[in-house]
Amino acid sequence: MEKVEVSVNKEGGIMKTMTQNNRRNYFSLLVIAFCSSSSVYSQELNYDHPDKKKFTSTVIFQNGEEKMMNGYGEVIYGEEYFSRPLAERVDLGYTYVVSSRGVNYPEKSNEENTGVRFNITFKDVILGNGTGFDDPTYGSQRRDALSAAFRYFSDIINNSGQADVQIDPSFFQNISPGSTPPLATSVAPSNASRGFNDCLAFRHLNSGTDPSNSLPDGILSFNFGNNINYNYDYSGAPTNSQYDFYTVAIHEIMHMLGFTSYCNADGTSQAANNVFTAFDEFLLNPSYSPLLVTSGSGSGLTVAVPQASYLTSNDLWFDNLNGVSTPVYAPSTFSAASIDHFDNLRSTDKFVMNYSLSKGEYYRYLHQDEANALVRLGYDINISMATAVEDLPQSNSDARIYPNPATSGEGVKINLQGVNKPEILVVVYDMLGRVSYSKVVMNKGSGPLTAIDPHNNLAPGMYIVIGSSKDELFNQKLVIE
Ligand SMILES: [Zn+2]
Repeated sequence: MEKVEVSVNKEGGIMKTMTQNNRRNYFSLLVIAFCSSSSVYSQELNYDHPDKKKFTSTVIFQNGEEKMMNGYGEVIYGEEYFSRPLAERVDLGYTYVVSSRGVNYPEKSNEENTGVRFNITFKDVILGNGTGFDDPTYGSQRRDALSAAFRYFSDIINNSGQADVQIDPSFFQNISPGSTPPLATSVAPSNASRGFNDCLAFRHLNSGTDPSNSLPDGILSFNFGNNINYNYDYSGAPTNSQYDFYTVAIHEIMHMLGFTSYCNADGTSQAANNVFTAFDEFLLNPSYSPLLVTSGSGSGLTVAVPQASYLTSNDLWFDNLNGVSTPVYAPSTFSAASIDHFDNLRSTDKFVMNYSLSKGEYYRYLHQDEANALVRLGYDINISMATAVEDLPQSNSDARIYPNPATSGEGVKINLQGVNKPEILVVVYDMLGRVSYSKVVMNKGSGPLTAIDPHNNLAPGMYIVIGSSKDELFNQKLVIE
């Protein structure tokens, strides 16, 4: 039996109503915007592959060579093209260079960028296999959507290094009765030192020094089974029958950045004895004490094996910033997804790092706790850009949108002071009534301030901004100069 669930999708419901009608004129849009959310029929798929050991990787030094080894002791090989000049790989279309300036800008280069840079190498394209990211019909949309997801991380990570990402050949598993295939795989290699290890992506992004010239800093792979209907349009919402590819990409990149655990069901490590991830260091047991306790140091350091029942207690936590404990997925039956995710069922909020994704469900930003988790892992994160939520300013509660006029690239904010609705749909229309930008804003009580178009895609011109929930809240002209 396929698992079919009926749920109200907070984001997808309203969004779909809006985008379906985006050719109508502004006044009918206004009316439609005030309709309440609708239900979504959603089939959940797990994000990640069920054989986690296969995608757990540590770097070892063997016969004078650096190699990666998975949890079964099998060697994982890096792409030989990593040793070729970057400009050549970009010219061949094998590698996309993604920075906050865009894709392959500045061209092919080692020029200075603000923020981090991801060098994404597509094995489908190198192989010319005509499938996945090399598919003649969908390949470019897939590469663009994945690049956009990396671009998001370029925008929010303030460190100045880079990461070499290998996109392994795509795989093709269909949804069938009794089979719910994973959407993707992610590998975050790290060293196998005793204690808590930073992954290679973190080390390269943080220090700018490549931990290994011959090995990738992370490996991703995606399932393009032909009956998995993806939405590749990251500026629009998926339909109720689509899985959102950008959301899957954000999720897998988070794992690659170090949001992952080595914990086995019995509390030992998938990698090696006493070897855990940086993420593992922040796990809390049901008493809110560290799950994994170290003693000694250096080669004598040990990590005590925790009480195994904790791993299936439904009561593990991530010791997040500011004393916040975020629920960690630890269901009563241990699975590959256990400990590697946050848990929507134990929260009133929704996380992109939940273990599964439903049709029609999508995220364009991290939850505050997820952005904060990256800070915990050591990254320098622009939290307001990551979550599109900032603290409320003290004035101007009547002017909902400011600055206005805004300069292109400035970032436009919305003041939700005095608004009590839990979520607000913000839609920006151009003067022809076309949707230029839309987002559901979670109103977290004390009056959040939300950036419109943090990626600065709005061209100069005049726009109508409508903020709505079940009642009209506001509509206002916005000028981008
Ligand atoms: Zn996952």
